[in-house]
Amino acid sequence: MDLRIVNPTNGTTLKELPCDDRAAIAAKVATAHAAQRAWAATSLAGRSNVVRRFRELLVERTETLALVLTDEVGKPIRQSKNELAGTLPRIDFFLEHAPGVVADEVVFSDRAAGLTERIELEPLGVVANISAWNYPWFVGLNVIVPALLTGNAVVYKPSEYATLTGLALADLLDAAGAPRGVFEVVVGAGEAGAALLAEPLDGVFFTGSLSTGRRVAEAAARQFAKLQLELGGKDPAYVCDDVEVDAAAAAVADGAFYNTGQSCCSVERVYVHAAIYDRFVQAFTSVVKGFVVGDPRDEATYIGPLTRRELALDVLAAQVSDATARGAKILAGGHRVERPGWYFEPTVLVDVDHSMRVMRDESFGPIIGIQPVADDAEAIEKMNDTEYGLTAGVYTADAARAERVLTKLAVGSAYVNCCDRVSPRLPWSGRRHSGLGCTLSTHGIAAFLNTKAWHVKA
Ligand code: NDP
Repeated sequence: MDLRIVNPTNGTTLKELPCDDRAAIAAKVATAHAAQRAWAATSLAGRSNVVRRFRELLVERTETLALVLTDEVGKPIRQSKNELAGTLPRIDFFLEHAPGVVADEVVFSDRAAGLTERIELEPLGVVANISAWNYPWFVGLNVIVPALLTGNAVVYKPSEYATLTGLALADLLDAAGAPRGVFEVVVGAGEAGAALLAEPLDGVFFTGSLSTGRRVAEAAARQFAKLQLELGGKDPAYVCDDVEVDAAAAAVADGAFYNTGQSCCSVERVYVHAAIYDRFVQAFTSVVKGFVVGDPRDEATYIGPLTRRELALDVLAAQVSDATARGAKILAGGHRVERPGWYFEPTVLVDVDHSMRVMRDESFGPIIGIQPVADDAEAIEKMNDTEYGLTAGVYTADAARAERVLTKLAVGSAYVNCCDRVSPRLPWSGRRHSGLGCTLSTHGIAAFLNTKAWHVKA
């Protein structure tokens, strides 16, 4: 069966590629197992050289890679370039910190008793990376680079919507000198991911939706593969009454609509202190009405098409009609854009409450609900009223107030006067239904290692 890669800007076919069947996937996993042993035996310096060369090639080919990404997922070209540039500090972080993380540690030594205790860290083995399309370079490399540096082989199943980027990434690793089999790409849709999980694996690193994450967790559990999940979110921002309103409105609007709202850590709900609610809503709506919707190849475009057709056609429209049926008011957008492709207008809803899907379900598009709150206590209660727990942000002139609010929230990332932000130095993780485990930071390198305990008697 062939996979048809479609340009979401106009619905035309970019490419048709043969999908890997069950036998081809099994062969790729077997090749990875065979290659992993030699790769683990290669020195860290040798593995780092491949990653360094990969980084150089990424820089050299950025313009072309950005176009591939923009055509395939509809990401505005400036944001595609930002994503590619943003991978570099992450790669640098991994290169700098891998030696410290993988080093053996002597934790006890008693000469008189002739006893030494040492912790050794070993690669997991062969890990599957099943990934999302919204930031394929970011979320792909967050797994692939530390996995390879620590001596694992990776079998990568990019989203079918980011297949060309996945194949470009494989070409780069190949050109950088990664030995055959150390990095394998599986081409196909969800069935290919499911088939991959039926093969013998030592780790499963998944980025995607909660519903697929559940299926992936069940499959990984059957073979006790180490499991990591980066799932969805319904991330809130709370704007206190002591902020500079225009600046806060512009920052939160960017956090909600960047990448056409298709970020796991997009702001998806906004709570505003009643004292500044009207002013904030006005400023926010005027920022959103100024967003340039257009061709993602155009440098001026801020909002492109949605990557997945059903999101534009069904999910967002259904959230808007559910909200308006329950009393919400549309201040901007609310409809599909009348042009070819999967476009949805940047949409602002007010008079919303938590009975509405737009305030409960992940939207993953250019749509936001804004709700007033009486005080910090109500903001905390509303922000915690979700099954997810990826990030939360508080905008205030009083950092201690922000900390008081954020410590009461079950989230993996706490933002003070910022949002929609990821740092290579900090762990990226979700609480509750937003995930298990973490990527990035030194913890996100250690995630690819098993501990071996050495008890050595003289
Ligand atoms: P999906 O869950 O639809 O897909 C994720 C991956 O799983 C894709 O490669 C998909 O393949 C594959 N897949 C689908 N079905 C199966 C199956 N039965 N077994 C194994 N693999 C399968 O998510 P999206 O790609 O649409 O990504 C959007 C979601 O990802 C959002 O919920 C977003 O919040 C989340 N996300 C979370 C991040 C985080 O860091 N927490 C970061 C980025 C995104 P295919 O696409 O070919 O169907």
